[in-house]
Amino acid sequence: MIEMICLGTGYAAAAANRDNTYLLLREQVNRDAGTVLIDVGGSPLTKLKKEQVDLKAIRAVIFTHFHIDHIYGMPSLLWGMWLAGREEELTICCGSGDEKKLRHWLELLEMDSWPAKFQIKIHVYKAEEKAELLTLGEAKVSTFPAKHAVPTVGIEVREGNRTLVYSSDTEPNEWIRQYDYIDELYHECTLARGALVHHTSLQQFSQFYNLHVFGKIVFVHLSDQEDYVSAMNEFMSEEEKARIHFAEEKA
Ligand SMILES: [Zn+2]
Ligand SMILES: [Zn+2]
Repeated sequence: MIEMICLGTGYAAAAANRDNTYLLLREQVNRDAGTVLIDVGGSPLTKLKKEQVDLKAIRAVIFTHFHIDHIYGMPSLLWGMWLAGREEELTICCGSGDEKKLRHWLELLEMDSWPAKFQIKIHVYKAEEKAELLTLGEAKVSTFPAKHAVPTVGIEVREGNRTLVYSSDTEPNEWIRQYDYIDELYHECTLARGALVHHTSLQQFSQFYNLHVFGKIVFVHLSDQEDYVSAMNEFMSEEEKARIHFAEEKA
């Protein structure tokens, strides 16, 4: 069974106890299936050690968009992979509009001179349409368009009848609303209240979606000192509140 682990949980400016939001997909039982990172925020080497993830087992990195808070950990991740003696090819997925920036960045890192022994394969997807990216164990991992300031995608993981979704940075998204059922929804919740542009507040989330079709809701991209609890009490029923979790990072 695939699990989605929140390595970072904070919004763009992070927080005292939260790295910027990024996630890990891992097959719980069959560890040989490898792992996939969704974005790479703060201190990836520390976070991956805490989760006991072998750097050689990371098959792919999926960048949902190229805002700094979602990408800046990449040089450190590659550096750690080199130090770990990785030889396995790594796939990095990005939107077609970000390919040039990614290639330029990789050039600047001069990995040939370290010298890194692993190749990087760049897989380009179109952010404006649904796209299947890869399989992990029995699961299919796809992207779908998000509503953000720059071309951005959310991530869908389908494993048999089970569906996991990560919203990435987005306004309330029709693509997410159209699911009949999502077992686990990881959704950004940048502020507690208000009508945000490019992002989602808890108020918007509870007014836009039918929360009863989400088995478990995990809020990520969280801000400091937001009174999420009072907003929950104001905008959600007891039954809806019972589905809500605020993502935590391993201490
Ligand atoms: Zn962000
Ligand atoms: Zn963003």
